[in-house]
Amino acid sequence: MKTILITGSTSGIGLGIAREFAKTKQYNIVFNGLEPNGPEIAEGVGKEFGIQVMFSPANMMKPEELKKMVDDAIVKFGAIDILVNNAGIQHVSPIEDFPEDKWNAIIAINLTSVFHLTKAVWKGMKERKFGRIINIASAHGLVASEFKSAYVAAKHGIVGFTKTIALEGAPFNITANAICPGYVKTPLVEKQIADQAKAHQMSEADIVNKVMLYKQAVKEFVPVEVLGQLALFLASEGATTLTGTALPVDGGWNAQ
Ligand code: NAD
Repeated sequence: MKTILITGSTSGIGLGIAREFAKTKQYNIVFNGLEPNGPEIAEGVGKEFGIQVMFSPANMMKPEELKKMVDDAIVKFGAIDILVNNAGIQHVSPIEDFPEDKWNAIIAINLTSVFHLTKAVWKGMKERKFGRIINIASAHGLVASEFKSAYVAAKHGIVGFTKTIALEGAPFNITANAICPGYVKTPLVEKQIADQAKAHQMSEADIVNKVMLYKQAVKEFVPVEVLGQLALFLASEGATTLTGTALPVDGGWNAQ
């Protein structure tokens, strides 16, 4: 059994990825997130698929909590083989009004936590000569949209970090890849629809059709299962030479 730690896995994309790994019954899963019912969500997936799970409420803004989460997981499962850096937040605002505390939180949660967690799992992966780091970036790791300065900066940062880690990990069979989804209908996006409606002064229906999906050639939200299946492949033993990439799953948004 391999062990996978997925940050922000008690909601949205992280939970979707966890469920795809759980279905294979080949992984212990370390869940994490700020949802108050996180322990029940983790336990529910464990029971549904008959696998071992753990839950940690570690806050991505607190490096000491991240280190403790990794240490606790290693005590319980012996190792972390796959790290999925997925936790993230968004704030939509024109630059002149962008609150400084939101900028700092987005950089800390969406980018700096990726550094701390990668550092914390690195030694063990290197020793075992196996590691898979999967970073959930975004189409916004490759292109920008207005009113998302902090998010776009953090996601471009993740893509650069992923490339660096891929180079450092190559001698030890540690791969690093970024998945760059287009729009996925999760609580994060539900909130954005409301925020963007305010920023653009448009109705919520128009935001979905004329702003969000306007940029995708495929006019559909990306299913979490597709991201989970891609993560499964990236995590597999055979995927050693697939490293240092930023893979768009964005309905053709980046083809334009
Ligand atoms: P979500 O809001 O459904 O889930 C986010 C998860 O992160 C939650 O479990 C939440 O508790 C956790 N989290 C937030 N702040 C945290 C903190 N300080 N400490 C620990 N956990 C924290 O959002 P989602 O849409 O599933 O987003 C997951 C990732 O996917 C994010 O990095 C996001 O930027 C990225 N993404 C989302 C979309 C989309 O359209 N939904 C598109 C591209 C990329």
